[in-house]
Amino acid sequence: MADTKLPIPKKPSAPGAVQKALHKLGLVRDIDLALHLPLRYEDETRITLLRNARDGDMVQVEATVTASEVQLRPRRQLLVQVDDGTGTCELRFFSFYPSHQKTLAVGARLRIRGEVKGGFWGRQMLHPAFRVAGGELPTALTPVYPTTAGLPQPYLRRAVVMGLQRADLSETLPSDVELPLTSNLGQNTFQRLCSLRDALIFLHHPTPHVSLAALEDRSHPAWQRLKAEELLAQQLSQQQSRRARDQLSAPVIPSGGGAPGMPPLHEQLLAALPFGLTAAQHRVGEEIAHDLARTRPMHRLLQGDVGSGKTVVSALAACLAIEAGWQCALMAPTEILAEQHFAKMIGWLEPLLAARGRCVAWLVGGQKKKERAAMLARVASGEAALVVGTHAVIQEQVQFKNLALAIIDEQHRFGVAQRLALRQKLAAHGMEPHMLMMSATPIPRTLAMSYYADLDVSVIDELPPGRTPIVTRLIADSRKDEVIARIASQVAAGRQVYWVCPLIEESETLDLSNATATHADLSEALPGTAVGLLHSRMPSAEKKAVMAEFSAGRMGVLVSTTVIEVGVDVPNASLMVIEHAERFGLSQLHQLRGRVGRGAAASACVLLYATNDSGRVGQTAKERLRAMQETNDGFEIARRDLDIRGPGEFLGARQSGDALLRFADLATDTHLLEWARALAPVMLDRYPQHAERHVARWLGGKADYLKA
Ligand code: ADP
Ligand code: MG
Repeated sequence: MADTKLPIPKKPSAPGAVQKALHKLGLVRDIDLALHLPLRYEDETRITLLRNARDGDMVQVEATVTASEVQLRPRRQLLVQVDDGTGTCELRFFSFYPSHQKTLAVGARLRIRGEVKGGFWGRQMLHPAFRVAGGELPTALTPVYPTTAGLPQPYLRRAVVMGLQRADLSETLPSDVELPLTSNLGQNTFQRLCSLRDALIFLHHPTPHVSLAALEDRSHPAWQRLKAEELLAQQLSQQQSRRARDQLSAPVIPSGGGAPGMPPLHEQLLAALPFGLTAAQHRVGEEIAHDLARTRPMHRLLQGDVGSGKTVVSALAACLAIEAGWQCALMAPTEILAEQHFAKMIGWLEPLLAARGRCVAWLVGGQKKKERAAMLARVASGEAALVVGTHAVIQEQVQFKNLALAIIDEQHRFGVAQRLALRQKLAAHGMEPHMLMMSATPIPRTLAMSYYADLDVSVIDELPPGRTPIVTRLIADSRKDEVIARIASQVAAGRQVYWVCPLIEESETLDLSNATATHADLSEALPGTAVGLLHSRMPSAEKKAVMAEFSAGRMGVLVSTTVIEVGVDVPNASLMVIEHAERFGLSQLHQLRGRVGRGAAASACVLLYATNDSGRVGQTAKERLRAMQETNDGFEIARRDLDIRGPGEFLGARQSGDALLRFADLATDTHLLEWARALAPVMLDRYPQHAERHVARWLGGKADYLKA
């Protein structure tokens, strides 16, 4: 029926055009088509009497044309009156062809489908679909698929039907595996769920009596089966890659080693630190040391809330590798952060390394040629025991003598390709380096169990002592003046302040002008205070200079876009103001907030939110921000963020959108996730061929993304 919907669907001009559009949707193999599920359904199985059609209903009627005329004012349009004996309706078309006028001639009996507008005063349908009445009614709901330009529904429907017929949907779940499955629906067992084939046939063409609610919220058994399959594929793939990695060899780094006549490097560092480790730092340090001492590569994610002290843990791990004669790399996503790490590592390690004839090297993009060449030489000779830098560390020209440990800070900022490149830096030795990935964005448990199932996770769940908790306040931006007064008093007390302007999506220029204007305003409002500006577009030398002023305490206020989001450590900063807080994600706000409260002084975070004309911020936006006031616990915030915004934010560059779960929802499908997690190792051990087929079916060529 939709075939005749006006305006006519643009017929793909060449047969290749359909193919191209299908490719664009990722619909290449038959199984891809079979797994391309409807967005919604249309019910064409029934004819509604016009008498019963109410405003807003999507209906199908059969009626006779009683009048048909083209009106020229106010716009050229075709107006058609129809009557089915119980009521009348006016059909209105703004674009039409002579052939349509012919079908819509007076006396014609039509089957019409569209949304009814109005009611009592006269019903109307705008651009309904129509065709000559009669013919059998379909027995199943009509699927409406997500599509793209140049691929009308009828073509896509046909392609899906073909795909569904041709795809190999044979069972991959071994028949003799017990599959108890309790769901939040009640006492379901897997046996009561349908086969994949039945599930798909049903979801593409459900019978009209099905509960649309169960289809929509995906609690229907057919959906459960599909989601279980998808989660199983993810688990299989990740557990496969973990097993494959366990077969590789890595440098064995014993914890006890050391140069003769000297205490081990990591003990020297511990002794030199101005603080003792927290119990949590100590524990994760042991976990890492344990991994490093094995013959297979470590792949560990070190999680810890902002300020929990991950850097020193990574430095201690580096010490172990260095003491055993190997090299380490520490890579950070931004130059500012890399620079901070470098300064810290120099401070901690340089004196100790000097006694061993070794040093810390530094590699970033904008480096001077001569300096870079010198650094590269030190890396190649092995004199550089530790190399700190940005992406520059993984460039091809960088030849390590013997890289044993790669540390990646803010790992979610790096992509798969970059991690692979790091791993290849040791390929010459026929080994893999150990990888330590750090993240201050706590990953909720369900995410860790699904997308990160191939990693081991260590958590620093404790902050160093002596930190005063950060007080967070929500303030309407109409009260900005009060906030500025507060800044003045902080600065007068010798403290420092961050002022963060949001990044306006798709408009870097606007974003820059915003930050610049704020900078000017604050400079004017705070005479005698040094107010700096830091923006992502500034040349890196300038950024460095600004950051140096702020770090040294010579600058009272730093206005910035989100470039300070990651890692910056200035303990004297005690107030953070975030403008347009409603535009940030919760985890992002938490990261930003973590820039203060690093010293002993009481610290505060002010979330300024914009109010609209009526003086109110969107209710949901404020509810969301309230979470920031209620808790300082990064995990709790991350969990709420996951509920609100889905997993994309957390995964960052870790995976391409392709590899994201399409059907399962980690918030509602935990029971399926647990099931898949338990089944995957059994399948890999006992039914490797089933497992192979299952992964190929679901992930095709995409499985590689999961493996870095
Ligand atoms: P993050 O985990 O956010 O990367 P950092 O490693 O930057 O945190 O540490 C935050 C600050 O806390 C740094 O100034 C660091 O030197 C300090 N720090 C780390 N561990 C301890 C500790 N056990 N006791 C006191 N201060 C510590
Ligand atoms: Mg850090």
